[in-house]
Amino acid sequence: MNAINPGLELRDYRMPPDEVPETIVETLSIEERDELKARVKKLLKKQDPVLVAHYYTDADLQLLADETGGYVSDSLDMARFGHESPASTLVVCGVRFMGETAKILNPEKRILMPDLAADCSLDIGCPIDGFSKFCDQHPDRTVVVYANTSAAVKARADWMVTSGSAVDVINSLRDQGKKIIWAPDKYLGQYVQEKTGADMLIWQGACVVHEEFKGVELELLRREHPQAKVLVHPESPASVIKQADVVSSTTGIIKAAMELDAREFIVATDKGIFHKMQEMAPDKVFIEAPTAGISATCKSCAHCPWMAMNTLRKLVHVLETGSNEIQVNPETGRRAKIAIQRLLDFTRSKGPSVLAGDA
Ligand code: SF4
Repeated sequence: MNAINPGLELRDYRMPPDEVPETIVETLSIEERDELKARVKKLLKKQDPVLVAHYYTDADLQLLADETGGYVSDSLDMARFGHESPASTLVVCGVRFMGETAKILNPEKRILMPDLAADCSLDIGCPIDGFSKFCDQHPDRTVVVYANTSAAVKARADWMVTSGSAVDVINSLRDQGKKIIWAPDKYLGQYVQEKTGADMLIWQGACVVHEEFKGVELELLRREHPQAKVLVHPESPASVIKQADVVSSTTGIIKAAMELDAREFIVATDKGIFHKMQEMAPDKVFIEAPTAGISATCKSCAHCPWMAMNTLRKLVHVLETGSNEIQVNPETGRRAKIAIQRLLDFTRSKGPSVLAGDA
């Protein structure tokens, strides 16, 4: 049964375009950039912190993480790396829910972020009060939330999933006869619902970056590059997903670029990922999926405004001052960890590939 938009209970939780911040990329001269990078390296050597960065952040931050014994990955994998690292402080370059997830899985560690205002439209579009009320109206449903949610929303959920694990988890819940509440991304929810046939009530949130990819313009671009394979993140609209050769998480998209027998790829996800894709598959060509054209409403233009808030200057400031520590209420963290742990236990029984990848 497809239970999308069952009535008045679900309203449109997408961010109005005029509330989406501009994507401001830090502009630095080569000398300034080199000087800031050298300072980061020195500060990391002098102190205990380890740097973990998301694929969507600035290439310099990803390089610094790789070069200093840190890590570049998706959010859950970043948190797992942080857990295994002996460092007592993690500096998370990403968005707020990533810092929170790191704190939930590593409550004994200090988690710092370059900018605590680095948010996510999916997180913003799923406020705990409204979501909790909605869940209360459907006590017969299992609550499954995507990683891109606040600690409070995860604490209200039965399960947290990633884009790489969502289909497997929902298939398993469907087989147990469970009906689902899914939040917050409506496109990923619709994709999972289509794949599994599960009975899902789908919260109407969206990622402001992936929602901008355009199906019509993608068709035109494919005509110009008939040999290109199309790699799509499932937070994109159905008109884009249906043209994909591979629909996958960030980690899965990088893997596909490395493994598929093609030279050209059209990529529908945040363009920050191109740094790692080019590094892992240097002989291949990556083309941005279109966010502009006849039906354009592009504001972020394939680069997340909140990810762009992670800058070299702010990173230096955080390392020098120890400011911007992420706090999660311990009781909220304890309950949120139950939902995350369910996923970790599920994947242990299914094998590591199920876990790979989230936003
Ligand atoms: S790219 Fe989209 S899902 Fe990812 S952090 Fe930005 S707004 Fe959130």
